[in-house]
Amino acid sequence: MKFRTIKGVQDITPPETSLWQKVEAIARRVFRTYGYSEIRTPIIEFTELFTRGIGETTDIVEKEMYTFPDRAGRSLTLRPEGTASVVRAYIQNALHTLPAPQKFYYLGPMFRYERPQKGRYRQFHQIGVEAFGTDNPMMDAELLDMLRSLLEALGMGGLAFEVNSIGCPQCRPGYREALTGYLSGRRDHLCNDCLRRYEKNPLRVLDCKSPSCQSLKQEAPRIIDHLCDDCKEHFERFRGYLKTAGIDFTINPLMVRGLDYYTRTTFEVTSSDLGAQNAVAAGGRYDGLVREFGGPDTPAVGFALGMERLVTLLSDREGVHPPGIDVFFAILGEGLRERAFRLVKRLRSAGLSVEMDFLGSSLKSQMRRADKSGARYALILGEDELERGVVKYKRLSDGSQGEVREEELPGFFLGL
Ligand SMILES: [Zn+2]
Ligand SMILES: [Zn+2]
Repeated sequence: MKFRTIKGVQDITPPETSLWQKVEAIARRVFRTYGYSEIRTPIIEFTELFTRGIGETTDIVEKEMYTFPDRAGRSLTLRPEGTASVVRAYIQNALHTLPAPQKFYYLGPMFRYERPQKGRYRQFHQIGVEAFGTDNPMMDAELLDMLRSLLEALGMGGLAFEVNSIGCPQCRPGYREALTGYLSGRRDHLCNDCLRRYEKNPLRVLDCKSPSCQSLKQEAPRIIDHLCDDCKEHFERFRGYLKTAGIDFTINPLMVRGLDYYTRTTFEVTSSDLGAQNAVAAGGRYDGLVREFGGPDTPAVGFALGMERLVTLLSDREGVHPPGIDVFFAILGEGLRERAFRLVKRLRSAGLSVEMDFLGSSLKSQMRRADKSGARYALILGEDELERGVVKYKRLSDGSQGEVREEELPGFFLGL
């Protein structure tokens, strides 16, 4: 074959697309009940948006971005995540002038230049939400409550919530110092990446997947012991609201999240349906990012989750059931095609889903096609029916047959 997709991306074809639509529809419905509106940002941005936003020393920025120069030599990047773009859009479109809080959700493709492997793609899809304009910890709790509603609506079981607070610009420097001190005495355990970046960003080590760095985590100083009074109170109130919302959670003091922009609340959700090692969804608060991007001081909090796994889970549990059509229209001879075309249009105008033969197939093969299409009814038009102004119908579930007058279409089928 001449053309194939580039490495690490995939087509999504019917009937699987029906699963994607289902996941998207459930997400839109749940988000609406929490007052979130959709925001759509470009998938392509200036590279600097992500290097500044996500952080120079993150794996995403160091190794995984899909970056290239455009024809004018500007460095562009296919978005590796959603938050940086939404924050840019929030400022650029002056959405901060609207009454706070402003709550947005997005769904769509993201791009990371990772080594392709099973279940990981260079183009993957995320659903995410961002709420701007309040640092009230009840917003953090509402966000987790919404996330739980979404995962439950998708039928996901065995949910476990882990939360942490990673402090603010007042208390994090003290913690960084303690962590750097701890790590500098154990440099021989650090992987090459962390050895290079631990002084610039020691928190990254807690997030590193290399086994030797992992082994340092347990004994490492915990940020939760270094929180300032404001952060301590914020974290306490957050946990209180989670209890009010009936969300069971555990505190994971080592969870710092991979991106530089997080402050205070961070969280991850795992599901026993998907194996406890991998988070289904993750997020946190990023109170400094809007200002960092040149906007007004605006606290914000959000989360994102990968769609591929939600689709796989739905498919494993329910199978793929694309919606069938209502009517398959069969014709006995080419001379009837024009007439059928008009009648099909009339049925469609009434909102029915109708398919007809285009290949001049035999009646037998048209009826086979009707069965396969999941149609509830087959309509059959022959010379005899045409002369009498009727159409023959057959209900495919039980084979019962009859005739319907042309002028009774489409009303006859709407009631059935
Ligand atoms: Zn603090
Ligand atoms: Zn490491």
